[in-house]
Amino acid sequence: MSQPTAAPATGTPAASLQEIISHAKEYGFVFPSSEIYDGLQAVYDYGQNGVELKNNLKQAWWKAMTQLHDNIVGIDAAIFMHPLTWKASGHVDGFNDPMIDNKDSKKRYRADQLLEGKAEEYAKAGDAEKAQSLLNEMGRLLGAEDLDGVRNLIIAENIVCPISKTLNWTEVRQFNLMFSTQVGSVAEDSSLIYLRPETAQGIFVNFLNVQKSGRMKVPFGIAQIGKAFRNEIVARQFIFRMREFEQMEMQFFIRPDTSTQWYNNWKETRLKFHKAIGLPAEKLKYHDHEKLAHYASAAVDIEYEFPFGFREMEGIHARGDFDLRNHQELSKKKQQYFDADLDENGKPYGNYIPYVVETSVGADRLFLATFCNALTKETIPSSEEGKENKERTYLKLHPALAPFKAAVLPLVKKDGLAEKAEAIASSLKSSFRTVYDDGGAIGKRYTRQDLIGTPFCIAVDYQTMEDDTVTIRHRDSMSQERVSISELKEKIGYAVSMERILEGI
Ligand code: ATP
Repeated sequence: MSQPTAAPATGTPAASLQEIISHAKEYGFVFPSSEIYDGLQAVYDYGQNGVELKNNLKQAWWKAMTQLHDNIVGIDAAIFMHPLTWKASGHVDGFNDPMIDNKDSKKRYRADQLLEGKAEEYAKAGDAEKAQSLLNEMGRLLGAEDLDGVRNLIIAENIVCPISKTLNWTEVRQFNLMFSTQVGSVAEDSSLIYLRPETAQGIFVNFLNVQKSGRMKVPFGIAQIGKAFRNEIVARQFIFRMREFEQMEMQFFIRPDTSTQWYNNWKETRLKFHKAIGLPAEKLKYHDHEKLAHYASAAVDIEYEFPFGFREMEGIHARGDFDLRNHQELSKKKQQYFDADLDENGKPYGNYIPYVVETSVGADRLFLATFCNALTKETIPSSEEGKENKERTYLKLHPALAPFKAAVLPLVKKDGLAEKAEAIASSLKSSFRTVYDDGGAIGKRYTRQDLIGTPFCIAVDYQTMEDDTVTIRHRDSMSQERVSISELKEKIGYAVSMERILEGI
């Protein structure tokens, strides 16, 4: 697109989570699930605009994985898997969170989050050393499964329940986060199955199917987008922590001696992706894990600064051969790859179980980060003396992510302007998502589009009837330019294309 003529307005992203939740609901992005029955905790539905934004984010990720890399292919595995999958993956025995209840308020908390909250308080007060030593002590106790020790630490740190303000805590218990259900009509142990708590295992059990049918050579990756389910103990931060959510995971199968190199490579590539979809560098940071999950030999989170602080949005994990080796042991099916490439001695690398570097991002957390970053409020100084400044709210989404790319608005409905605008809208629809709107004053219609993030508004006026030109109004700068109708497809088409995102990665 041509450069805006006016200086861009300087907006600041809206601060509070409450404003974000309200905007998401009011403009059809996210609704509480089954709201007419007062909702279901930690479950949400995406509305008519939310589903478009989410689909666009998923598409950007999918293309970034499977289109930009010759050696990455996608799959779509079932949510239900053989129960032994979760034994092999360690989820049956180890996918637990330590929980604790306050006897007075009857509220349940994650013990580790209470301690992390205290450490954050120390850090904010400038005592980084005390914060770190508390985290270290927590890591040590959890690692040793010393749950009494965790409870004692909570009490010693004088961490009270935020509701009852008392130290009247129960013991700490481990709580498995997997949802289970029965398959078939007989209630016996063998029919107990789980809703998958991560999509990764659907990739591991298909590793050889994909490798053989696709004649894939190490290094190669398998990508997947799909639902995952976790019975989270505490879920209070909107779509940040849900019980049903969506993951976008990619498992990259590599030669064992190249693990560090690929880990660093994916760490960088994934950060670039987040910047390319429009998240600002200063709101993104790496966070190395102090306490590694049971499967990981190295792990880093990419954190985003949400209104409630920097939190994990994506995890990058060097998983070694943990998963494939365990599946091999439990299934008794070899999970090996024959590598015909030659090593430095001129001999083939031969048979081995590949190592894995995983990238795992939550589609919902990516949505929340994108939405928080986009919601912008600004004051427009009045051009006339004595007149009040105006407030404006808009969603500064990357144009390729916006639910609608363009809105066509006739200045008035009469004199053939409406028909002309409708014809323009329908000629654009096959290229990108376009809406026609003739309801109310043009200023109000611009505002409606700003609130859902439509990057381009096309106004049809009397001049259009004479010379087939229209005005394009740019969402962020509010600048306007006159272009001919025949140029619209090309001008807007490129600006809103996924290409724009992919080029930045
Ligand atoms: P957390 O520490 O916040 O519970 P995690 O380390 O358990 O997250 P992973 O198991 O690494 O998360 O999952 C990968 C990604 O899936 C996370 O980075 C996050 O974006 C997403 N995710 C995990 N749990 C949830 C959830 N309950 N709701 C929404 N997204 C989630």
